[in-house]
Amino acid sequence: MPAETHLFRCLNDNYGVLLHDPSTGTTAAIDAPEAAPIDAALAERGWRLTDILVTHHHADHTQGIAELKKKHLCRVVAPRKEASKIANVDVTVREGDVVQVGSLVGRVLETPGHTAGHIAYWFKSDKLAFVGDTLFSVGCGRIVEGNAEMMWQSLLKIRNLPADTQVFCGHEYTAANVHFALTIEPKNLALRSRAEEVVRLIEQKRPTIPTTIQQEKSFNPFLRADLHSVAAGIGMEDSNAASVFATIRARKDKF
Ligand SMILES: [Zn+2]
Repeated sequence: MPAETHLFRCLNDNYGVLLHDPSTGTTAAIDAPEAAPIDAALAERGWRLTDILVTHHHADHTQGIAELKKKHLCRVVAPRKEASKIANVDVTVREGDVVQVGSLVGRVLETPGHTAGHIAYWFKSDKLAFVGDTLFSVGCGRIVEGNAEMMWQSLLKIRNLPADTQVFCGHEYTAANVHFALTIEPKNLALRSRAEEVVRLIEQKRPTIPTTIQQEKSFNPFLRADLHSVAAGIGMEDSNAASVFATIRARKDKF
């Protein structure tokens, strides 16, 4: 049976996601921004929390763990490189490790840059990726602990996933990201239609995610830093992709 997902808002602009395996009844929360909305989502679906898969150590992704673990006795999986910064961890994982949620099989991708030990979880057969704060729709995470080259390599790793992979990210930042992206690629037709779609979704109070790898490749400037048109658009046609990426990221920080 295929995996089921349930997406909901937490805190100000964080997303919570539940990943459910109907054949075993297993349910994982991807990160734990806040216990109450996760419990509400579990109750709404009639699911029991068995696992928490943590992408990185930031408080807005981990502060619900203690309460959820106490209540549900769930297993907490976290990046090995950040385990010392996250309480209540049961299993630590690194690049290439397999993480099972019931019969669903995920693989760990190390995606440093936002934090030094950030990881993503890719469920190949179910065409799902949970990327935390590395990739956002039409944007990417701030480089807090890494450098631009590191973040660019992490984004390439995600960009290389199959085009029809559905991508769940940690925040609803899409409207602001679109606003910025239009300053980099004002003539990109895929981006302009995404801009219209995002306005419509937000008016209807609907989420702009999940997105797909294919869509992001068409309109996310941070995944397009190696295109001549993008480099030329910011006057960097002779620079390498990582430098173009670094410049776009720095502009976004000041935007
Ligand atoms: Zn973060």
